[in-house]
Amino acid sequence: MKIVIANWKMNLLSAEAANFCQAFKAGYSPKPGCEIGIAPPATLLREVSAHLAGSGVQVYAQNGYFEQKGAFTGEISMGQIKDAGCHGVILGHSERRHIFGEMDENLVKKLKAAWECELMPVLCIGETLTQRDAGFTLDVLHAQLDVLKLTGPGPLVLAYEPVWAIGTGRVAETAQIEEVHAFIHDELLRLWSGRGMEVPIQYGGSVTPENFAGILKVPFVAGGLVGGASLDPAKFLKLAEQAQAAI
Ligand code: PEP
Repeated sequence: MKIVIANWKMNLLSAEAANFCQAFKAGYSPKPGCEIGIAPPATLLREVSAHLAGSGVQVYAQNGYFEQKGAFTGEISMGQIKDAGCHGVILGHSERRHIFGEMDENLVKKLKAAWECELMPVLCIGETLTQRDAGFTLDVLHAQLDVLKLTGPGPLVLAYEPVWAIGTGRVAETAQIEEVHAFIHDELLRLWSGRGMEVPIQYGGSVTPENFAGILKVPFVAGGLVGGASLDPAKFLKLAEQAQAAI
């Protein structure tokens, strides 16, 4: 199974999102075994869900809060995300962790809240350049994956995104991706036994149509989480087709 998700981050206005969806849908044919998703900003969730209805493309939120409702100004709940027509929610993106101080402890609650609302969480993990250069990559990932020990098993997509490769144009080398994906696969087995094998592991970090086919050949890479290249419908279509060809 392959899964490719566009993370639009804080980009696109209503009319631009409509044009994107129209252009993407015109070229896209779903294929069993390959899921495609788009994660627009919160203001566009409902309308992008409507644009994509019946296309087979799923909509994800970029973040969500664990409480169901109440005095949490600026947050949106998993129930509200579901109500806007979403299939899932990205959690623990490195920009949430490093710019907004997202903590692993909150991620445990967010994962459980997503499952309660029948949303598919996409949990992002990854090391910074300082951590990699100091030789701590696998320790950092091990610690980040520990949230899964606390939640127990459930439906999940995991995204390995080395922080130094996100939005930098510097994609991780094949050998680096291979080492980490094999490690994450083993960790998932250790944490969740057989259920761990059901979790697709995406790669994220400067994915483009030029490098994606090679990345998809790496063992245990089950697709991509894509930022910059996902803002252009023609490029995102190529990425979707490459993932379909790799099933
Ligand atoms: C991301 O936003 O998760 C990401 C990987 O961004 P980019 O593809 O631009 O590096």
